[in-house]
Amino acid sequence: MPLVKPSCVHEIRARVNIVDVISRSVTLKKAGSRFKGLCPFHQEKSPSFHVNPDMGVYKCFGCGKSGDLITFIRETEGLNFIETVETLGQRFNVPIEYEAGAGPTREERSLRQELFELHDIAAQHYYEAFSANDETGNWMRNYWENERRFDLELAKEFKVGAADVNGSNLGAELMKRGFSESALRQCGLFFIYDDAEISLRSLRHRFRGRLMIPIRDHQGRVVAFTARQTALTPDNDPAKDAKYVNSPETPIFTKSHLLFNLDRARSEAKEGHPFVLVEGQLDALRSWSVGLKTAVAPQGTSITEGQLALLRRYHNQVECFFDGDGAGQKAALRLLPMALAAGIEVRFITGDGDGKLDPDLLMMEQGKEGYEDIRKTALSAMTFACQALLPEGRKANAEKKSAAMKPLFEIVIAAESEVAQSEFLKEAAAQLGLSISALASDFERYRRHGARRAPARPRNEEAESPPIPRGPTTISPEEHLLLICLHFEAYGKPLSLALPHEWIDTQHPAGALLNRILAEFEQDAWPGTAELNESGLLETPEEKALAATLLFDTPTMDDPAKVAEEGLQKLRLRALQPQLRQIELALSQSQTDSQFDVISLLKERSELQRQLRQPLRLAPVV
Ligand code: ZN
Repeated sequence: MPLVKPSCVHEIRARVNIVDVISRSVTLKKAGSRFKGLCPFHQEKSPSFHVNPDMGVYKCFGCGKSGDLITFIRETEGLNFIETVETLGQRFNVPIEYEAGAGPTREERSLRQELFELHDIAAQHYYEAFSANDETGNWMRNYWENERRFDLELAKEFKVGAADVNGSNLGAELMKRGFSESALRQCGLFFIYDDAEISLRSLRHRFRGRLMIPIRDHQGRVVAFTARQTALTPDNDPAKDAKYVNSPETPIFTKSHLLFNLDRARSEAKEGHPFVLVEGQLDALRSWSVGLKTAVAPQGTSITEGQLALLRRYHNQVECFFDGDGAGQKAALRLLPMALAAGIEVRFITGDGDGKLDPDLLMMEQGKEGYEDIRKTALSAMTFACQALLPEGRKANAEKKSAAMKPLFEIVIAAESEVAQSEFLKEAAAQLGLSISALASDFERYRRHGARRAPARPRNEEAESPPIPRGPTTISPEEHLLLICLHFEAYGKPLSLALPHEWIDTQHPAGALLNRILAEFEQDAWPGTAELNESGLLETPEEKALAATLLFDTPTMDDPAKVAEEGLQKLRLRALQPQLRQIELALSQSQTDSQFDVISLLKERSELQRQLRQPLRLAPVV
């Protein structure tokens, strides 16, 4: 594992002002010799997050989080220690040196980390093109203000940008910055022939003559772009006719797992302030511009279970605010059972139901009040479902009513609790003018016979051939811990908190993968084993093979906690014992010239001994 020289870490702590680091993501106000702001780690209305620049530390008096500039970046940007030091070095121009010259080349660094950096630079680059006083910049700003009717302040806040007919020469900028070939190939911003060497000529820009809107993940990192067609879009754009073109999926961008504006909306959503689900990114920007800050949007595709699960992590109330036309209402109906299954309380804003509702226009003309007014008439889940499935309602004939039952029951059955199901049935009976007992018994029959059940997952234990026994001696502690993470996910988070990344040997695929997976657990971003292959977490063929092997059999472990603790203990001994031995040696040979050194060695020794004695206990997080 490459180690950053401790002198560089000291250098960063000495040279970089913690206020400069934190004020990139938190608005800080001076209060005496200190600074105050709203805590980024918990929701609050009055600032209890304090920064002391003299000591280089922050502390929140609300939730108790505290630390220095390194912990701040680690926690808010989800990076490991080395990535954090590298990021700070890059941002504040402190050169980073590595122990014994073993610094990672660009290629060896995490591809994901490189892609995040690349997108950050690309967003800035496009924004500068948008702001430039030249033909493209002037045209785009005019388009933004007069045709889209947004203001420039909003463009600045979201770094809305422009790509000119030549892609604003983003390729040259990125080549100059020395990004690796795989990052340039995989970032999705260029078309590159597989067999072409990377050069300025072979980088063909995907986005040309378009308005560029950065897409951020739930941590606020730019991971992709959506590009709006304009009059500047050239005729030879392969997607010339598409109004919007999104970045393709990349190791850091999975469309179905990301919601536009969630990074900002998540801290605004709370009781009485539900998430507002809108159809497109520009609708979300419109909402934000009128002060409706909880709006989120999918990426030009219909909403997925993964996106709803993501929302549910922050708040359980969602209002669906789609166009009143057929497409919008169909999308809303498709979303309904998924929302119920995810445990989301969902309401539907439909206006007069005359199909003319246009959220963008409404907010442009009437601002947030327009939304506040219309949401008073929002429909509950069941009322919306009944109206959508049977527009004639009570007046419909018996045949139509019975035809509507199956889709209705499909929605009701998605609700997990029986209490919720029977509430829904009562509501549906009232809406449709049916007797509740008749409806309930039809539903019961449907549940027993008619419901399409998801096919049971094949279980490996029942496979005919017994699992191939693996040699017990060859498996490393890292592999043991990977097995735990993959098969007993409840231990992932506690393990990520108990296991410092320095103890892991990342020279080997198992260690590299374990480190990356634990980082996901630590950030509560673990995609689950089903999504592992698509997640971009498996970076090399070796890692893919390893993950496949480890996932193949369910391991026989009576007590996963014990196995995890043993693995932790092994890694701790491996990491700390050599250090301890070195100190003993230095002390015994009296290699030290000053009393001060002896004292500091003794201190270090007792600290190591203390760490080695600490009990290792893991409790699963359910
Ligand atoms: Zn706090």
